[in-house]
Amino acid sequence: MRTMRFLLIEDDVQTASSLARALGTEGDYVDVYGTCREAEQALRSGDYGLLILDLGLPDQEGSALLRDLRARHDHTPVLVLTARDELDERVRVLNLGADDYLSKPFDLAELQARIRAITRRTRAATDGQLVVGNLRLDLSSRQAEVSGRGIGLSPRELTVLEVLMLRPGRVTSRHLMRNCLDNGGEPLSDGALDVCMHRIRKKIESSSLEVRPVRGLGYILQETVQKA
Ligand code: CA
Repeated sequence: MRTMRFLLIEDDVQTASSLARALGTEGDYVDVYGTCREAEQALRSGDYGLLILDLGLPDQEGSALLRDLRARHDHTPVLVLTARDELDERVRVLNLGADDYLSKPFDLAELQARIRAITRRTRAATDGQLVVGNLRLDLSSRQAEVSGRGIGLSPRELTVLEVLMLRPGRVTSRHLMRNCLDNGGEPLSDGALDVCMHRIRKKIESSSLEVRPVRGLGYILQETVQKA
């Protein structure tokens, strides 16, 4: 297991110290800051494997820091700690580019499980391969295959599939997908995203997976539910 550097932005001293202790037990490094301003400087100079971000911070909303981070194309994985378990809040932080969220109060074992899941996905992505079920996406050659057989996807379809494969079993919002497809110009229209999604669903029909729409939220890539 490689060691990791965590950046924890949390102003509650008790929560921060218990988290830092829990995360530091496997030889990983944890830098803790209580304000966005101090953390911004660390983020710009450091190379962190994961940012754990509280939303209610004294000098700025954590969500503003997250938005700025993604606006400058910093893809550091982010786990958000939310005080309230509300759907609006969760959708909002996912739309801003968070990889996952956890509602307070949380269990340390659950936090560690979430962190392992995020880092597994990130490491798979940096190793150049994304694998979910029998679907494989090679990020360097930009080729997708089902059980070893290539499926022809357009560059746009590959990008959408990549976003879905980074978040298997969890909802990816339409907003996030449309913005991933922004080529320095306008985000993709809703209609164009629908067409793209329809094609992907056809092309992965022979796989063990399906892309399911979640009304009002987005899409989810999951194991196919067997129909009787
Ligand atoms: Ca706080």
